[in-house]
Amino acid sequence: MKAIVATKDHKAAVVDKELRPLRPGEALLKMECCGVCHTDLHVKNADFGDVSGVVLGHEGIGEVVEVADGVTSLKIGDRASVAWFFEGCGHCEYCTSGRETLCREVKNAGYTADGGMSEYCIVTADYAVKVPDGLESAPASSITCAGVTTYKAIKESGVRPGEWILISGLGGLGNLALQYARNVFNAKTIAVDINEKQLDFAKELGADMTINPLNEDVAKVIQEKVGGVHAAVVTAVAKSAFDTAVESVRAGGRVVAVGLPSSSMDLNIPRLVLDGIQVVGSLVGTRQDLKEAFQFGAEGKVVPVCHMRPMEDINDIFKEMEEGKIKGRMVIDLTEFSK
Ligand SMILES: [Zn+2]
Ligand SMILES: [Zn+2]
Repeated sequence: MKAIVATKDHKAAVVDKELRPLRPGEALLKMECCGVCHTDLHVKNADFGDVSGVVLGHEGIGEVVEVADGVTSLKIGDRASVAWFFEGCGHCEYCTSGRETLCREVKNAGYTADGGMSEYCIVTADYAVKVPDGLESAPASSITCAGVTTYKAIKESGVRPGEWILISGLGGLGNLALQYARNVFNAKTIAVDINEKQLDFAKELGADMTINPLNEDVAKVIQEKVGGVHAAVVTAVAKSAFDTAVESVRAGGRVVAVGLPSSSMDLNIPRLVLDGIQVVGSLVGTRQDLKEAFQFGAEGKVVPVCHMRPMEDINDIFKEMEEGKIKGRMVIDLTEFSK
């Protein structure tokens, strides 16, 4: 089968790969599409260590074409996900307490397990989440990582209907965060980005306020106009965005970190203690989170922007990503083999 793998020289290549037989508990997906996430870029660049030869991709959607012994959660004909949270151990303190993405034995698709950018993908059936009818495969692929990551982050923020939330960074993750915050959690939204085009898009999506940090002091405007936000979700990959978020929340506010700049953030301890600020990290989402995130997609509350691309474009897509040229999500079309 054709598959996109990470190579020793930090590129991606379309290669022929042998498919092994299924083991008990596994299902075989005939892949339809797989979105390209910023994390794929880190993996192929070996930023998390050398995993050359692994099939990339953790925003995959495919149709079940075979199930092994012992599979009861999926049947032939179902569509299911290949997500970053590919499999947990199932019995540790995290797996048994609703925090399975923190499992220390976790397997991640497209990193420590072969991912979704291939003609076929073998999944552990109990960990592949079924895509509901009414949600097309391309938007479902974006929800499999970008969508569930932001949905979970808004959940973690604890924001309640009518409260203010700051969404920092309106790219591939941020625009989905805005949609979940507004259309699912009924929060009032403030979109912050240095890119005017992204802010225009945020306005189209119904943001209550947009602020460009290049023109205005974000924290000052927010504290003056709404008395500080109740919560902030930072998807931006700039340290300054994290510092600004801490300054923008009101007393008791919560900052949720999603973006991964490789630096430390400033945390003023008196501000933390005296104002009871909370800062938490949020990593993708559990199977239940993904199920919920899919459902809101099926209901039309969240609409990812997807652009279909052929497998051969993978290195071009990574280049466009590095140059910050991507709007929405690039999704690899894996159906060309069946045409
Ligand atoms: Zn991802
Ligand atoms: Zn575990």
